Amino acid sequence: MDKKRLLVVGGVAGGASCAARARRLSENAEIIIFERGNFVSFANCGLPYHIGNVIKNEDDLLVASPDLFKNWFNIDVRINSNVKAIDRQNKEIEVEDLIKGGTYKEKYDYLVIAPGSSPIRPKLDGIDSEGIFTLRNIPDTRKIISWVNEKKPSRAVIIGAGFIGLEMAENLAKLGISVSIVEMQDQVMPLLDKEMAWFIYEHLIKNKIGVYLGDSVSGFKKKSDGSIDVLVQSGQSLSADIVILAIGVRQEIELAKNAGLEIGHLGGIKVNEKMQTSDKNIWAVGDAVEVKDFITEIQTVVPLAGPANRQGRIAADFIFGKNPMGAAFRGVQGTAVCGIFGLTVASCGLTEKSLQKLAKNGKEIPYEKIYLHPNSHASYYPGAKTISIKLIFSPDDGKILGIQAIGLNAVEKRIDVVSMAIQKQGTVFDLEEAELCYAPQYGSAKDPVNMMGMIASNIVQGYTKVTHWEKLSTSDALILDVREPFEYKRGHVDNAINIPLGQLRTRLNELPKYREIWAYCFVGQRSYYAQRILTQAGFNSKSISGGYIMYLASDSI
Ligand code: FAD
Repeated sequence: MDKKRLLVVGGVAGGASCAARARRLSENAEIIIFERGNFVSFANCGLPYHIGNVIKNEDDLLVASPDLFKNWFNIDVRINSNVKAIDRQNKEIEVEDLIKGGTYKEKYDYLVIAPGSSPIRPKLDGIDSEGIFTLRNIPDTRKIISWVNEKKPSRAVIIGAGFIGLEMAENLAKLGISVSIVEMQDQVMPLLDKEMAWFIYEHLIKNKIGVYLGDSVSGFKKKSDGSIDVLVQSGQSLSADIVILAIGVRQEIELAKNAGLEIGHLGGIKVNEKMQTSDKNIWAVGDAVEVKDFITEIQTVVPLAGPANRQGRIAADFIFGKNPMGAAFRGVQGTAVCGIFGLTVASCGLTEKSLQKLAKNGKEIPYEKIYLHPNSHASYYPGAKTISIKLIFSPDDGKILGIQAIGLNAVEKRIDVVSMAIQKQGTVFDLEEAELCYAPQYGSAKDPVNMMGMIASNIVQGYTKVTHWEKLSTSDALILDVREPFEYKRGHVDNAINIPLGQLRTRLNELPKYREIWAYCFVGQRSYYAQRILTQAGFNSKSISGGYIMYLASDSI
């Protein structure tokens, strides 16, 4: 058999998984990984936790070493090797040896590029001052750890409240450092809808993290005592002994671009569903590529480890032709999870924000949404915690469009179920019927997944009508609070009248038939019961989804 040469650029998530899969498919191929850094196959996702001393040994972050690649897979790993150029005509790459110096060339039959993405470092005044860090790899981690050990910082400012920023906030706080976060948008975790991010905001404040929203950094000023003033647009300045920049990543596309490979309009390398670039002998995977969104089929960029790994495997499957079922990359759903001081935040699919953006761009997808706050497991079994969920779906056929959930316990397993349902083009009726494992310490006989399906299917089938707090200001509906008087007294919506659910049937005569009635309670369950009573008694009524807690969430930041 012809001995084929597979060269892989980048030896972490996408590149390493591609090379290892390639070997399992072809014992005969010659496979070489080129990695610019001095580590391959390390766990970037664990880096914040090593800084926070949760993962104590750096070695635990090293999933595989060059030796392991050699011994187990017969793959030649060349670290400290920067691939400088691709000569597509001659099917060869130019490699710079970063230790010995000089360059050399290597021929390929197939080339896979998995260069990833690098942290954005804007050109701001003072950005190169000592003590300002980004986090991508093990050398970055070492620098942060040394700074923490040597300088013993007492104040940290983190710029950016996305996944990495929030993980770093938690881990620096664990080291006893007082942490503030500056975020340009008016919410933390910009990937979520704002009202859902409110739960995270509250949790950060509870954990004594300073949060500055809607403000962006304009520069840095190094002071004579070694501290750094972080200057923000609003005119404030925050003092820090360490600064972490976590404002997003930019795809590493120089190599591909210089080789004339097609680049998409989002700035990622263009690939087809086989992960093949515009050159049929070159594949690209991971953070650096643009792929289609699974739901909208519109191009997107999702820098996550799961897609990178899957794409690497798929590229190898196509390269070595052992893909009898033709399993191409299906697109990304953006399924993600993050832990913040014990709170789990997870999401999948489209947010309301992204749907509104699509509509603005002329690609309207009709949607409805519900909020619910079920327990993580049966409430009578100790340790049950509330999960706040937002489910977005099509009001026409119940097709699931997206989900966001936040809570202290068993959040991610619900997201994983819904993520799979989305991939199977599932509907809220599928969630209603999902048969999930149950014992009281794990879930409920009506699991939160079933609950969201039941609530949403009631809406699609017309059994329930819901409305939302953001419509309050433009509505003249009568607002009916069906909670107990003591709850009402603690706080209620202006002008809401209070008739507790238990008294509603006997006090219907107090309500007008000519005016729409919007019922609410604390989480949306009693208001649903109220809405059913009212509708069957001939009133025109709706339940405000998610209840008073979502009123607070929508209104408070
Ligand atoms: P990378 O893993 O970045 O690997 C690319 C490699 O290519 C790099 O090592 C680079 O040195 C090398 N390279 C680039 N250009 C060249 C060249 N010209 N020559 C030679 N080598 C080159 N994702 C999640 O899903 N969950 C998480 O919890 C999570 N946490 C994260 C935490 C942190 C701190 C970071 C930084 C990322 C995290 N991610 C997480 C994202 C995830 O790590 C990435 O999506 C994933 O690693 C992308 O894989 P990749 O192979 O495309 O790129």
